[in-house]
Amino acid sequence: MTYRPHGKHLIAGERVGSDKTFASAPADGPSHDFCAGTPALVDRAAEAAEAAFDAYAATPREDRAAFLEAIAEELEARVDDITPTAMAETGLPEPRIRSVELPRTANQMRLFARHIRDDAHLDRRHDEGLPDRTPMPRPDLRMIQRPIGPVAVFGASNFPLAFSVPGGDTAAALAAGCPVIAKGHDAHPGTGELAAEAIAAAIARTGMPAGTFSFLQGGDLGVGQALVRHPLVKAVGFTGSLNGGRALYDLCAQRDEPIPFFGELGSINPMFLLPAATEARGAEIGTAWAGSLCMGAGQFCTNPGIAVVIDGAGADALRDAAAQALHEMAPQTMLTDGIAAAFKGGAARMAEERGVTPLVTTEPAERSATPFLFETDAETWFARETLAEEVFGPLGLIVRCRDAGEMERVARSLKGQLTVTLHMDDADAAAARALLPIVERKAGRVLFNGFPTGVEVAEAMVHGGPYPASTNFGATSVGTLSIRRFLRPVCFQNIPESVMPADLAG
Ligand code: NAP
Repeated sequence: MTYRPHGKHLIAGERVGSDKTFASAPADGPSHDFCAGTPALVDRAAEAAEAAFDAYAATPREDRAAFLEAIAEELEARVDDITPTAMAETGLPEPRIRSVELPRTANQMRLFARHIRDDAHLDRRHDEGLPDRTPMPRPDLRMIQRPIGPVAVFGASNFPLAFSVPGGDTAAALAAGCPVIAKGHDAHPGTGELAAEAIAAAIARTGMPAGTFSFLQGGDLGVGQALVRHPLVKAVGFTGSLNGGRALYDLCAQRDEPIPFFGELGSINPMFLLPAATEARGAEIGTAWAGSLCMGAGQFCTNPGIAVVIDGAGADALRDAAAQALHEMAPQTMLTDGIAAAFKGGAARMAEERGVTPLVTTEPAERSATPFLFETDAETWFARETLAEEVFGPLGLIVRCRDAGEMERVARSLKGQLTVTLHMDDADAAAARALLPIVERKAGRVLFNGFPTGVEVAEAMVHGGPYPASTNFGATSVGTLSIRRFLRPVCFQNIPESVMPADLAG
């Protein structure tokens, strides 16, 4: 039987209603009513998180690891409810939810369990006291990373599990020892509810403090604003639009006590095709690019929207192969009506730009996405800043350059990106060495001969980058390093053995 959502918030383990409701707008199947969040509920969840903080932050790492593993198990136990609910709400196909996103989300919890067991995140440092040093004795200094406080997490629309309520931000914050208040995304409120139930069940099973996790539905922009302004909230994790993220970032900065806002925002993920690779494999790269562009209806933050190439037969082959593959793509359903409308608007704006040639144009129906491909030259790229704006969906733009120098200028013109890709053969090594120092300053991840749409959850992954890819220097929202966003270093000077926390003693 299909899961029927209860539609309530979940605050410190309790299902809580509210007078105002909003209706879900699924891609498929019946709509349901959900209680809308309110500032009063934000207050209640924040008080519960603060009340839980001391006890949760002091839990032994082994207990927190067992809690994260219990969340993974509770998510997996609900796979037959989560899968059809998420499919109906988002329009994403069954394998994406059942076989990719849910296992990825559970494995992310398990990765953080292993990570905190290994204790590298503590970054323990010890300068032993030198009482006899002259002219001044040196005190004994021990440093470790400690949890920052209650963390607010905004679920993303495009990954209803892996970047949403039980996603990477929640996993990293809970692993760090921070209680979490998750605001669900209105695009998948039933999926958010099921994920929250799984986390609450894991709390009950492992005896964690009830306020360690709360889940609030949205339904009102005021909920997110109240959350980031709440004095008990000490950091925010966010994935979404540049406009929404920037508005919330500014609110964080305007607080009496400004707090860090870890936003993962827009990116166009340019690919640079170097001459030998283009000549040898232009068509092959073009076909594969089309597949990457259309993955998940183009609704990946790492969608490679731009291909920068030097004029010639290889560039023509890339263009023709990509156009042909895109012509053959079946329509896909977009996550929300709003995202579908924004995609159509973005494609229409690009089609009207002077100096831009439409190669593939389609007529997407209502909430569906069909691909677009455009071509321009570097001069037009430099002249029209709007070409560098993210169009969220399956849309590609080829930027043709006259020579390597012009390609380098395109690279220098880029804003911060989540990824930059170089397609190169051995004969391109000198050109790649010239581009590398430029693109390294632009992106969190630099790929070679691949496509950026898969983001491995791993130790060395960086999913971040200079603004506007993210709002933070030095942060990633995927991979074990992401735990550092919710930790802060504390130095304990001359601490007596009798009060030494276990993590500090090592
Ligand atoms: P969004 O509009 O930025 O919303 C993300 C979350 O932030 C939602 O929970 C939303 O609340 C909240 N929010 C947004 N603006 C706010 C404001 N001014 N005050 C308070 N809360 C605010 O992103 P989206 O709905 O996921 O998708 C819209 C667009 O974002 C897409 O078309 C795409 O361009 C971009 N996007 C980018 C990425 C990426 O990874 N780069 C991922 C997803 C989406 P409500 O739910 O209450 O509105």
